[in-house]
Amino acid sequence: MTKTAFYPGTFDPITMGHIHIAERACVLFDRLVVGVAYHTGKSTLFSVVERTELVKDAVKHLPNVEVFSFDSMTVEFAKKIDARVIIRGLRAISDFEYEMQVADINKYLEKEIETLFLMASANFSFLSSSMIRQVAALGASVTGLVTPLTEERMREKFGLGLVQ
Ligand code: ADP
Repeated sequence: MTKTAFYPGTFDPITMGHIHIAERACVLFDRLVVGVAYHTGKSTLFSVVERTELVKDAVKHLPNVEVFSFDSMTVEFAKKIDARVIIRGLRAISDFEYEMQVADINKYLEKEIETLFLMASANFSFLSSSMIRQVAALGASVTGLVTPLTEERMREKFGLGLVQ
C-alpha cells in the first residue's frame, strides 16, 4: 500500500524552511502531497495560482512530491488523496500552541488521521513567510531564504528591478 502524507500550508510565499520540511518528510513516505490552501483566513500577497506555481518550482527536485491547491478542509483533502498523515513544521515555541489546537481539531474531525510534526531546521527556525514579505517589500535581498523564482516574483510584486 502506498503511504501518502499531506503537507498543507499557505506558502505565501514558500521559504527554504518549508522546503527543508518537504525534503525531510518525503523520504519518510512513498508520496508527499503539498497542499496550497485557497482560503486561509489571511490576506495573501500571492494568489493561490501564483503560490502553487512557486511551490511546484521549489520542490521540482523531489521525485515523489506532488503539489495541489485545495479549498476544502485539511482533513477532507487528506482523505481525498488517501493520506493518513498531515505534516506540519514547528519552529520556535511560538508555533506550538496554534499547531496543537489545529492538530486537536483535526483529530476531532477525523480520528484516522495523525498530525506529524517535524522540527524546523536550525538555520531556518526564525524564518517566516511574513518576515520574507516585509524584508522584500523594503527592497532588501532575500537570496538564500527563498528560491530564485520566488525572489524574482516578489521583486515584480513590489515594483523593484531584477537582482543585479
Ligand atoms: P499556515 O497558514 O497553514 O500556517 P504556512 O505557510 O505559514 O501555512 O506554514 C505551513 C507549515 O510550515 C506550518 O506548519 C508552519 O509552522 C511551517 N513552517 C513555516 N515556516 C517554517 C520554517 N521556517 N521552518 C519549518 N517549518 C515552517
